[in-house]
Amino acid sequence: MESSRYLSELLQCVRCGSCKTFCPTYDEDSTEGMGARGRLMLLWGLSSEQLKPTPILNERIFSCILCGACSGSCPPGIDIKEVIYHGRSLLRKTDKKRRYLRFLTRFSTKRPKLSFRLLSMFQYILFPYLFKKGLLPFKIHLPERQLKEMPQVYKVSKKKGRVAVFTGCAVNFLYPYLRESLINVLNGLGYEVILPVGEMCCGVPLRALGLEEEAINLAKKNLEIFSRLNVDAVLSLCPTCTLAIKVEYPKLIGEGIDKARDISSFFLDELNSSQYSLLPPLKGVVFHDPCHLKYGLGIEREPREIIKNIGIDLIKTEGDRCCGFGGIFSLSYKELSQGLLNKCIGDYIKTGAETIITSCPGCMIQLTKGAENKPVLHLIEVIEEALFQQS
Ligand code: SF4
Ligand code: SF4
Repeated sequence: MESSRYLSELLQCVRCGSCKTFCPTYDEDSTEGMGARGRLMLLWGLSSEQLKPTPILNERIFSCILCGACSGSCPPGIDIKEVIYHGRSLLRKTDKKRRYLRFLTRFSTKRPKLSFRLLSMFQYILFPYLFKKGLLPFKIHLPERQLKEMPQVYKVSKKKGRVAVFTGCAVNFLYPYLRESLINVLNGLGYEVILPVGEMCCGVPLRALGLEEEAINLAKKNLEIFSRLNVDAVLSLCPTCTLAIKVEYPKLIGEGIDKARDISSFFLDELNSSQYSLLPPLKGVVFHDPCHLKYGLGIEREPREIIKNIGIDLIKTEGDRCCGFGGIFSLSYKELSQGLLNKCIGDYIKTGAETIITSCPGCMIQLTKGAENKPVLHLIEVIEEALFQQS
């Protein structure tokens, strides 16, 4: 974001406080600086040189989970997430607390192959440690090779179209089987699937740490790779990636991957009842809205409709809460993150939930930590089950 635009966005705040109603971090800690209004006032104080960076000020700015819930309620329509990203980039040099995270994130996104090799070597020490610390929901076993290293085309006999998959880091490292499900479903519906080589991290973890320049480099590489493909759509199983490459890249580098689509809007158009079988009745199923799907991409109805169409009745849930993951947020603010998770899961348990369906690998990581052995499924697994259960 250019400095002039940043200042004009900050100046637009009329201090109405509407944004606080929806802010999960303010809900957890109701001090002014834990909501959007307070954060914007602090950033204005910095820009007008009335304030200087301090550790507590940095905490307020870096504790925003970047969910985007506030922007829709802001009367002047301030792009609050972009303002926070820019504010973080101005603060990154004074923010010592996250310097190691910054180093690791920068290194792993710049040198993904080497990072993968190092992670593979130390996975049997590192992952059990992170699991014990509650930072991983299960003990991870990395795939033998980094999936994104392999350019692949999954052909079909009667081709209806071509789709590229933007895998994203969470699916690549933690849930590679979900990508296999997506490929199966697409092939089953007659789509040839392309996994292009050279896909990089979408850049969101870098931006969350204030590393805008580094994120710009990755965004340009992803745009170059995906925009030259002759495909009908670019699908990702992660709404954070979809939001980044479609909606946030134009703000970051002037152009986005226009064909990027969320899987639920794509499959609601593509699936018709002759292609799948109704699933056996399941009791106590809730759908968890990923924040970036709901607030960022404006998608709520589509996944619910798909789930209903394949025979599952969803329970209506009271609350409508963020799960508290937020990527880097859950590493930097473990207690806040856990508090949000407890409230979110608490609401689901109250309604008698036995199974949680969502459509974000980040939410899956977080919800699995709190779900007390209740299954947490990705929407693509449910679609795959409905398509192939009789075969
Ligand atoms: S993005 Fe989310 S956490 Fe950050 S200020 Fe807005 S509502 Fe609060
Ligand atoms: S809703 Fe918008 S204008 Fe109102 S206080 Fe929040 S950021 Fe400022």
